[in-house]
Amino acid sequence: MPEFDRNVLETLREPLEAGRITISRAALQADFPAACQLIAAMNPCPCGWRGDPGGRCRCTPEVAARYLRKLSGPLLDRIDIQLEIPALTAAELSARATVSGEATAPIAERVSAARERQLNRQGMTNRELGGRQVDELCRPDAAGEALLREAGERFGWSARAYYRVLKVARTIADLAGARMPSAAQIGEAIQYRRAFGSV
Ligand SMILES: [Zn+2]
Repeated sequence: MPEFDRNVLETLREPLEAGRITISRAALQADFPAACQLIAAMNPCPCGWRGDPGGRCRCTPEVAARYLRKLSGPLLDRIDIQLEIPALTAAELSARATVSGEATAPIAERVSAARERQLNRQGMTNRELGGRQVDELCRPDAAGEALLREAGERFGWSARAYYRVLKVARTIADLAGARMPSAAQIGEAIQYRRAFGSV
């Protein structure tokens, strides 16, 4: 993702927030639907080896920091799930080949049931909920509220980030068939937004 120019990346903010994009050329302006699911990946530094225990990264800390800064705070704010995935060693890779995870079909069924639940309850997906609907449909209990407050202060979340975490928690609760997100489900949603917590 950081291989794109920063101003190109910034244009993603509008579709990610509004699900539409407005293009202005001279006297003409056109509005297009642009609701999308953005899936992006990046390396931790230009050479890709930062954090490698073998010490293969040759980037200075400044070069690595400049690379990460290509993604602005407001853009990261609009990306709901941000995960850091460490590279596996060759030994870990071959060990994993023998571990069988859950098959795709039952997962797909669970996702489609969760989506159905959202449409039945509110006529739209959780992503599209407005602030007032989030307050009503994603009410955390006291323990969940405390977790949110603590994470929000620690990571300096905007109101947007706060609401987006609640919507992710609402989706996790829907996957589990729960009426309201539990503190554990809020905690899970918070974990998904921590990769850039310190940037
Ligand atoms: Zn590097």
